Amino acid sequence: MHSAHERLQAISPSTGKLLGEIDETPIQHVDVFYEKSKMAFNQWSELPVSQRLEYLKKLKEYMVENIEVIAKTIADDTGKVLTEALVADIMPTLDAIQHICQHGTKMLKREKIKTPLLLIGKKSFVEYMPRGVVLVISPWNYPLQLAVVPMISALAAGNTVILKPSEVTPLVGKCIEELFISAGFPDGVVQVAHGGKEVGAAFTNGSPDYIFFTGSVRTGKIIQEVAAKNLVPTTLELGGKDPLIVFADANLERAAKGAVWAAFTNSGQVCMSAERLYVEKSVYPRFLELLKKEVDKLVQGNDENSDIGTMTFPAQVEIVKKQLDEALSRGAELVTGVPSHLWQKGMYLPPTIVKNVTHDMKIIQEEAFGPLLPVVPFETEEQAITLANDTVYGLNASVWTHDRAKARRVASRLVSGAVVINDVIVTVAHHGLPFGGTKQSGIGRYHGSGGLRTFCHEKAIMEDSGRRKSEIQWYPYKGKYPLFLNLFKSYFQSKRNWSTFARMYIKLLKRN
Ligand code: ADP
Repeated sequence: MHSAHERLQAISPSTGKLLGEIDETPIQHVDVFYEKSKMAFNQWSELPVSQRLEYLKKLKEYMVENIEVIAKTIADDTGKVLTEALVADIMPTLDAIQHICQHGTKMLKREKIKTPLLLIGKKSFVEYMPRGVVLVISPWNYPLQLAVVPMISALAAGNTVILKPSEVTPLVGKCIEELFISAGFPDGVVQVAHGGKEVGAAFTNGSPDYIFFTGSVRTGKIIQEVAAKNLVPTTLELGGKDPLIVFADANLERAAKGAVWAAFTNSGQVCMSAERLYVEKSVYPRFLELLKKEVDKLVQGNDENSDIGTMTFPAQVEIVKKQLDEALSRGAELVTGVPSHLWQKGMYLPPTIVKNVTHDMKIIQEEAFGPLLPVVPFETEEQAITLANDTVYGLNASVWTHDRAKARRVASRLVSGAVVINDVIVTVAHHGLPFGGTKQSGIGRYHGSGGLRTFCHEKAIMEDSGRRKSEIQWYPYKGKYPLFLNLFKSYFQSKRNWSTFARMYIKLLKRN
């Protein structure tokens, strides 16, 4: 990826041709970025939320005007098909902006909280104070959404942002920088640092007030270690090995279509893609046929009518190959696809479904992030749940059945940040729902009502009129102990004794 001139090269995964070059941000500039961001924070954080949201609206308008150019940039840089650039990367970004513009003011407003009787005479509030400079480090699979959504959430909450987009998709990184400039954000409020992991590491080691990272578990752990040294809080959005559970009473045609889409959309390079399929034994053979029929219809290519594009990152192809090779060498069999030695050159991988796998294989336990779907039969609901929970990941899952009670029962028992019933992945497209993982899929949540507050310090405020001379719990303590004893007993016992409470309270006041 790096040339001697410290320029990032964008290579088209579908043609192998050079699409363009971007200047890398020198790591000596890290301090300048942070200084500029902290200066800009002073004004930006003081703006009323409604004014900050005006900038977001301009961003949305500009994006809508240029939607085709953005879609083309994403498709070129990632190798994903145009439809997916539009539907799965641009749409959720626009919708997130819209959601934040609609609900942001309310989510960030100071909240009045009821004050308990023992603290009588005071008012209580919670305020949401921006954290400062938020460092967003983003990946290449949904290079727009996974950068811009945390950015706008942090910005709406009053933070300034430094983005380090993935070096694998530098053109989208550049495009994001231009979007924020064109939307007219004040100088220094958004800065983009281009480069690879060295640049990412240099910024992580700088002075962020918060780090929002989306990427691999391995890099997430490195970032968390660095952040821990300076007690910098983080959100980590990491990988997944998402299970699909299909019961015999499900709409099997729909389930097969859903499974194929969930496994192969974006060539499986989705943290929430289906990576394990569990099918009730009685319908297992029939379901395999349905899957094969759906896969046979798929069109691979890079035009408007193609279903599946290329892989984006060469190293990822190797991971998929290793998983497939191991499974086949240990007795697994192909339902669709071919062994890896028959793969064609280049970045197009065949949508591959594998049966006869065992639960200790890499193909079941490790994230593939590619078009690889192992299918496993199960006999009981209990067994399906146990198998589905048997990985280190827990990001999304889906349950397919017409029995609503069963669907909800199973959904509740899956250790997963999200569960979809009779559909897949789609929770991520509803910005009102929280997004994030359990176990090694990550730490923290965004989207949803907490999506902006993640980027804030929650501040407790209590207010007294200041008119009374003293408080009962202040000095002097002389003679107060037995009065407090009776006060608390009368207050906390199961049947409250109001007359003792009032007498003790008045006596305590007189002791002040
Ligand atoms: P992937 O893109 O395959 O999910 P990574 O998790 O390595 O893989 O990359 C996600 C983002 O993290 C990219 O923007 C990458 O440049 C960045 N990154 C990689 N290594 C580090 C690191 N040590 N410190 C900070 N950022 C890093």
